[in-house]
Amino acid sequence: MLRLLKPRNDLRTLITLLAVASIVITLANSLYASWRVQRQVLIENTLESNRVYATKLASTTGLFFQQVQGQLAWSANYIADKLDDDAVLMAEVTRLREQTNSFNSVLIVDQYGRVKGISPESLKLRGVQLHTEAAKEALSERKPLISKPTLSAANNLMVFVSWPIWSKSGEYQGYIGGTIYLKKKSILNELLGAQFYRDGSSLMVTDGENRVLYHPDPRLLGQSVMPLIPDEQREQQQNGYREVMRDNTPMLAGYAVVPVANWTIIALKPTAATLQPLSGLLFKVLTHSVPFALLTLLCAWLMARWIALPLWQLARKASQMDTPAVASEINSIRSWYFEAAQIKRAMLTGISLVQEKIGRLKVEVQTDPMTRLLNRRGLSAVLEYFVATQQPFTVLALDIDHFKRVNDNWGHDTGDRVIASIASLLQDNARQGDVVCRNGGEEFLMILPGTTLTHASEVAERVREAVFMTPFPVVGQLSISIGVAEWQPMQQTLEQVFRQADNALYEAKHAGRNCVMTANTALADVAN
Ligand code: GH3
Ligand code: MG
Ligand code: MG
Repeated sequence: MLRLLKPRNDLRTLITLLAVASIVITLANSLYASWRVQRQVLIENTLESNRVYATKLASTTGLFFQQVQGQLAWSANYIADKLDDDAVLMAEVTRLREQTNSFNSVLIVDQYGRVKGISPESLKLRGVQLHTEAAKEALSERKPLISKPTLSAANNLMVFVSWPIWSKSGEYQGYIGGTIYLKKKSILNELLGAQFYRDGSSLMVTDGENRVLYHPDPRLLGQSVMPLIPDEQREQQQNGYREVMRDNTPMLAGYAVVPVANWTIIALKPTAATLQPLSGLLFKVLTHSVPFALLTLLCAWLMARWIALPLWQLARKASQMDTPAVASEINSIRSWYFEAAQIKRAMLTGISLVQEKIGRLKVEVQTDPMTRLLNRRGLSAVLEYFVATQQPFTVLALDIDHFKRVNDNWGHDTGDRVIASIASLLQDNARQGDVVCRNGGEEFLMILPGTTLTHASEVAERVREAVFMTPFPVVGQLSISIGVAEWQPMQQTLEQVFRQADNALYEAKHAGRNCVMTANTALADVAN
């Protein structure tokens, strides 16, 4: 199993692995890059849309305050010099509250801080001296004001918008003002408070002192919180955006300032909710790119096969260099690029060199260097061939008579020359298909394929005579003795036939040398 899992270290596998690795890396890289880009785009878009949204609300809120101040200014002008006419004042506060629907309550206060008219009357403040911060501020400042959000006597978070009343002659007469509740139903509340979305987006409004005026969680209203947008940024830019942390949750905040009230409207969306579509998006990118990647992979695999094929074929042949047909097989390999062509060329050159060398070695190994005849190893190869082809043959076993005397009388070197001369004489007397071999020392073998025993005996006699009739330099006349035997396929072993030839030779020696004996007679003689 482990062997199966282990990749083969061949070129094709390596190229395929390389392709797989580069495709996977490219895919991962493009996924990561698109993830980064998409993430950035989503974040920037959300920040920007939050900023735009906050800016829109801030401008609407600003317009609302302008409109409210406009209404108060009109009324202040209308009731100037009529502050003693309770009926006019009552009619005006009622009109303002009911007709405009901007205020939760409207009141007119004289220059001493006493309430001259109020709507709704149920508040029962008429004639009462006001001591609230907003009331004091309106009296002392004598200019249009939007108060800080305060808690009313009835525990309502509210802002107080006031406009000074000046008489026609320019005397300060007090102010007219209206309260707008932040928690209760009011136009402002409708405008801001109900704005939140299901995807976790929310809206938050804080005043200049970072008190919460609007928030989906009512418990936070009126509470001071850590500023989400630092004061420096708010002062530098009326609107903008920022990535913030709230309740340990990263959020994308767009903000805008309402200058007239110094409020900050902040539109928030959790970063996680913003990035939620990202995984789906990545999945889509993946489903779009995977088929193409697989196709590329298939192409790479096929290309790898194609590129590696010539080298693979050459490599396979490298292990069969000693087989005869390998050169033509290597020659037929299509090596279509430089490296493969060079290797092919080198292999072909190598093979021809090796084969030439092997041929030379074979000849050397099978030849007797002194006589240039086959040695016993060479003879074995020939006999193997005869046995394989079931070719009958006769064997002539030849031995020089009294050769020791040659060595003794004229020396070993002369003996060697005599052996070489007789060898060439034997070779001269052999037919083309006959095989002459030095059997060691001054003994020889002649193999006559397809020759009968009788005919072989005649050949042997002719050879014996040729030797006897040839005068050898230095030593003069010499003779040889010959034993003849026949090998028929399926009838005897090679060993048997050589023993028969040997026996016949022994008999020839015994019979006085310089004669030929055939195996049959020899056998008969041995038997006797
Ligand atoms: P015969 O065969 O007639 O019985 O007598 P022989 O004197 O020839 O006896 P045998 O064949 O047994 O002797 C072989 C001698 O041949 C022994 C050895 O000194 C000699 N001899 C063998 N090989 C070589 C060789 O390569 N060169 C030389 N110079 N002499 C060899
Ligand atoms: Mg001998
Ligand atoms: Mg001899």
